[in-house]
Amino acid sequence: MKIVVKVGTSTLAHATGRLNIRRVEELVKVLSDLKNEGHQIILVSSGAIGMGVGKLNLPGRPGDMPTKQAAAAVGQCELMYTYDRLFGQYGHTVAQILLTREDVDYPERRRNFQNVMARLLDLQALPVLNENDAVATDEVGVATTIGENDTLSAIVAGCVGADLLILLSDINGLYTADPRTNPDAVLIPEVSEITPALEALAGGAGSALGSGGMATKLKAAKIANAQGCDMVIANGRNPASLYDIAAGNPCGTRFLGRRANQS
Ligand code: GLU
Repeated sequence: MKIVVKVGTSTLAHATGRLNIRRVEELVKVLSDLKNEGHQIILVSSGAIGMGVGKLNLPGRPGDMPTKQAAAAVGQCELMYTYDRLFGQYGHTVAQILLTREDVDYPERRRNFQNVMARLLDLQALPVLNENDAVATDEVGVATTIGENDTLSAIVAGCVGADLLILLSDINGLYTADPRTNPDAVLIPEVSEITPALEALAGGAGSALGSGGMATKLKAAKIANAQGCDMVIANGRNPASLYDIAAGNPCGTRFLGRRANQS
């Protein structure tokens, strides 16, 4: 299978912004093993800004754009250095691709992106993607960025014709209610259609439930499912759950991609 795995900052870093070494090492080990099993793996990794904050000893997430860009530029190096070193231990070669919205919006640039992804996978490399936060900034009143990696990973899954998109977050999946405030909330294991009622469950973007919140995850599911790609939301706390997800075993919430015979 061609699998796109998206990891959020909450999975990769401690609250200090510093790398969660044990977590990242486990993640890289499992992804390397899945690749050894024969799957093609594409990693969409957040954490550039968060890691830049740690590396530059900034007091917190920057509020102004230039500092955010600078943090992303520093943190992206740190991220790739870490992935290069860890994947290298298992004999895998990583490739960095930093995207801006134009790269996937304009047909010619989208084709270029698809071409390089296909070639990298042919060459057995493991592409690691992120938005190019050092240069991609929204102009006033004009949205020129994708803005978060839930959506970015779904767009990438569509571009490369992935079979499966996995979003690793700090929650176990989609619940019938907000599990932080409602003890009766139950995990929904499978979703075959994203209804308005389901969207209402997800609440607004930017909640404490992961960087993008549940709303961006449902948006990602819609994009991926429309292209026939299944999407799973699972907790990144235990990277070994990726084995179950790849094997189709129940884990987190699986959103079923539209099959060719569905309208
Ligand atoms: N591109 C951002 C970063 O690497 C993360 C975006 C997101 O968390 O979705 O810091």
